Amino acid sequence: MQKCECCGKVFSEEEAKREFADEYIMAYSNFRKKLCGKCAINAMDNYEKGVYFMSCENCGKSFDLNKEDEECLDSLSEKEDYELINFWTTRNICLNCLFLCQKNRCNIL
Ligand SMILES: [Zn+2]
Ligand SMILES: [Zn+2]
Repeated sequence: MQKCECCGKVFSEEEAKREFADEYIMAYSNFRKKLCGKCAINAMDNYEKGVYFMSCENCGKSFDLNKEDEECLDSLSEKEDYELINFWTTRNICLNCLFLCQKNRCNIL
């Protein structure tokens, strides 16, 4: 059993994983904090920074999904943003690599 770093509730990781998977397709194991299912879902719903990290499969940099996403929201249309979120459910590529890639028309995507 673990203690949630957000609400203090004692929870089982298996249960949290299941709960999170019902709402999000992302990997629960990418959370840097120990969060119960409810807090993990809340963190994603609220674009909470500093909790969910993915490591870029292109450059190896570890990036904060919610932070990158927020930066995107300013520069992308709603449709593009939606596509990006979908993209991140299957690929781990940081924004830097994504933009470089778009500019150079390379084919990592
Ligand atoms: Zn919690
Ligand atoms: Zn990268």
